[in-house]
Amino acid sequence: MRKEETKAEIIWNEAASRLQRQLHKTTYEQWFQNILPVNLDGNVIVLGVSDDFFADWLKDNFDDVLSDALASIDDIDYAYKFEYGHTPEKNTRGKTALKEISASPERSESKVKLPSKRPSNCLSRHTFENFVVGEENRYAYTAAKTAAENAGLYNPLYIYGGTGIGKTHLLQAVAHESLIKDPSIRIKYTTCEEFLNNYVDSLRLKKHAEFRSSVRNVDILLVDDVHMLANKTQLQEEFFNTFNTLYNQNKQIILTSDKQPCEIAGLEDRLVSRFESGVTTEINAPGFETRLAILKMMQEEHLVKLEDDVLQFIAANISSSVRRLKGALLRLVAFASAMSVSAISVEKAETLLHKLLEEENASKTISLEAIQRAVAEHFDIRVNDILSSKRPKNIAEPRMVAMFLCRKLTAFSFPEIGTAFGKNHATVMNACKKVPELCSKNENMRRSVSLLERQLHN
Ligand code: ADP
Ligand code: MG
Repeated sequence: MRKEETKAEIIWNEAASRLQRQLHKTTYEQWFQNILPVNLDGNVIVLGVSDDFFADWLKDNFDDVLSDALASIDDIDYAYKFEYGHTPEKNTRGKTALKEISASPERSESKVKLPSKRPSNCLSRHTFENFVVGEENRYAYTAAKTAAENAGLYNPLYIYGGTGIGKTHLLQAVAHESLIKDPSIRIKYTTCEEFLNNYVDSLRLKKHAEFRSSVRNVDILLVDDVHMLANKTQLQEEFFNTFNTLYNQNKQIILTSDKQPCEIAGLEDRLVSRFESGVTTEINAPGFETRLAILKMMQEEHLVKLEDDVLQFIAANISSSVRRLKGALLRLVAFASAMSVSAISVEKAETLLHKLLEEENASKTISLEAIQRAVAEHFDIRVNDILSSKRPKNIAEPRMVAMFLCRKLTAFSFPEIGTAFGKNHATVMNACKKVPELCSKNENMRRSVSLLERQLHN
């Protein structure tokens, strides 16, 4: 029996039929058919979409169209906002566009195992099958897969690395994989922020016991972005107790973060040592080949196919995050679909991606001074010491690290970097050779360099 339509559904149905009349059929199917009216908040309709790319793209390209479609419905101009995490399966508005386009011959649903149930806050496409493995993420991938197959073996598993490079994907893949193995397993996936909000609400609403049971009566606890624990003493206390309860029962805990435990500001020592007590693995941004493979996999989901040279252009020029890579692909596919063009040239791609490429470049231009400052601060010395000719180890080593990072993170030449340090190019070359050697001998140095690199990247 069909349930009665909610107010949000009635409004969205009206807007959707206006959109359908106005837009090209493929455009409507690709971008709007799958939107789910979640609820109505005053005159703001909450629209459920799969993820932030989708929402960003709609906002960037169809804001006017959407606002128009939602205008003067029963004399009210409705505004909209998006909510992520709504997958096509949940959408009951007939045929689902995303599902339709993801059914490529190579990756048909029948080939990709999907559990019959899954945590509602995990995206169905975040599976191990959909994760492209390269040198940079192999270790993290293997560790996550092992944890999913042998719960409790790596406990806790701690995955850290920059943004947009697959941490959440892997964490949710564990949820899917574990449920395929054992459909009765109890899994909780939560972001650290959600953990915080639910914890605070539970205190306010005097429902602390319920909150505790929601995170403690589970077989696997997956917590995303635990760097959010930084400087939050009370939250850390709660987290510590949750962690211990599960750990002592040998329940699997997996955490992700953009930092190593010891780098999270104000994280209590006892949590640092708990987090480090299992397996800690870094995930790095994928290199060119992996990026290209990711693009090829992602484009299988779309009706429009881009030529290899265009994919290579994207992979070569967008390296900072997979999220951005995906954004670029989506933009081109959407353009081709909206305009009903079958091919996009590299030149056209360059024009369409202009804004994204600029952002990418801006994120890459790190100044030499910024590196000198960050290094000085990290090693607790002054920039002037770095620029001096002082030889003691506590100054000479940071100076070499700064030179090494200047070379690694910027496009400046050896002589140019030398000049910025008041030294010659040979000194810089020597530093670039020495720092990796220092890192291989000294774990603290390796951690410092890796932390600085990530800090400067962000
Ligand atoms: P993070 O949590 O590290 O910020 P996400 O896991 O959210 O990053 O990844 C960002 C986007 O990139 C997601 O859509 C994810 O599916 C995709 N992604 C990241 N790495 C890979 C990969 N190796 N293969 C396929 N997709 C990837
Ligand atoms: Mg994430």
